[in-house]
Amino acid sequence: DGGDRDTLIEAHELSVKLYHYLLMNTTHGQTALQYLRNRGVTDKQIDHFMIGYAPPEWDTLTRFLEKREYNLALMEKGGLLIAKQDKSGYIDRFRDRIMFPIWNRDGKVIALAGRMLGEGQPKYLNSPETMLFNKSRNLYNFHHARTAMRKSRRIVLFEGYMDVIKAWSAGVHNGVASMGTALTEEHASILQRNVEEAVLCYDGDNAGQAAALKTIPLLERVGLRVQVAMLPRGMDPDEYIEKHGADAFMRETIEHPVSATKFRLLYAKKNHILLEEEGQKNYLLEAVGIIAVLDSPTEREFYLKELSREFDMSLDSLKQDCFDRRQQLQ
Ligand code: ATP
Ligand code: MN
Ligand code: MN
Ligand code: MN
Repeated sequence: DGGDRDTLIEAHELSVKLYHYLLMNTTHGQTALQYLRNRGVTDKQIDHFMIGYAPPEWDTLTRFLEKREYNLALMEKGGLLIAKQDKSGYIDRFRDRIMFPIWNRDGKVIALAGRMLGEGQPKYLNSPETMLFNKSRNLYNFHHARTAMRKSRRIVLFEGYMDVIKAWSAGVHNGVASMGTALTEEHASILQRNVEEAVLCYDGDNAGQAAALKTIPLLERVGLRVQVAMLPRGMDPDEYIEKHGADAFMRETIEHPVSATKFRLLYAKKNHILLEEEGQKNYLLEAVGIIAVLDSPTEREFYLKELSREFDMSLDSLKQDCFDRRQQLQ
C-alpha cells in the first residue's frame, strides 16, 4: 500500500546517502573512487548522479536499516536485501559494487543499479521489479532530463548509465537510458508525451546497432521523428567521450545524426558485398524496399536520387521498382 511505498522510497533515499558517503569517505571506498576516476568520472558527476559504493561485507545495508527499525521483510520485497537461504535473516543485495540510484519521474529513488569494479558477470546488477520499480516504464535519468527535453522537444537515448552520465557533462542534458532491457512500447509512449524527436545514440557494436534498428519502428509508431547518432565501430558514447573529448562527441555525433531511413540503408549495406555485382544488385533492391515504405513522395525521391547517384543507376528504373514495391505493400 501507499505506506509501504513511502517507507521503501525513504529507505532507498537513505541507502543512496549511505553508499555515497561510503564511496567518498572510507578506505574501502577509495578503490571504487579510484576506479571511477580512472574511467574519467568527475566529482561533479559523482555528486549530480549520487554515485556510491556498496562495500563487500554481507550486511552493511542490512545492519544500517535494522538499526533504523525498518521492516526487513519489506526491504527484501523492495529489492534492497535478499533473504538468506535458511530464512534466518537477510543480507545485502549489492556488495562490492559502484552504485547508481534510479529515480522515478518525480525524482524519488525507487531502485538501484550496481556495477562490478572489474570485469565479470553480471557486470551490472539492477534492483528486481518491485512495487516501486518497473523497468519497462522507467528510464534512467528521466527526471533530470525533463526540463531539457521539454525545451528542446527532443530526447537522446543511450544504452548505458555511464553513457548518460558522460554525455550529461558533454552538454547532453536530455539523455536517458533504458536499464538492461530493450526500449518498450511503454517507454515510447511516455517519450511521445514529452518530445517530438528521439535521437538514438546506441553503442557502435553489432548489438547496439541491432538494438537501434529494432527501436526505430517502436518510436516511429507513436509518431516520433527518429534520428540516429552514429559512433565509430565498437565504441560506446562513454568510450568516445573519453577518447576524443566532449566537444568532438557533440560536434561529430550528437549534432549530426542521420535519419532513420539513412540508418536503415547503412545497416542494410553492411550485409552486402558491394564489390560484387550480385551484392550491389541485392543491396539496391533491399534499399528500394526500405525507401518504398516512406509515405512522402519527396522523401522517396530524395533517397532514390541518392541511390541513383551512388550506383550510377537511372532514377526511372529505381522509381519503377519502388512503385512496384508500394503496390505489393497495399
Ligand atoms: P560500462 O561502460 O560500465 O562497461 P556499459 O553501459 O557500456 O557499461 P553495456 O555492456 O554496453 O555496458 O550495457 C549497456 C547497459 O545494459 C548497461 O548500462 C546496463 O544498464 C545494462 N546491462 C549490461 N550488462 C547487464 C547485466 N549483466 N545485467 C543487467 N543489465 C545489464
Ligand atoms: Mn553494449
Ligand atoms: Mn556500452
Ligand atoms: Mn561503456
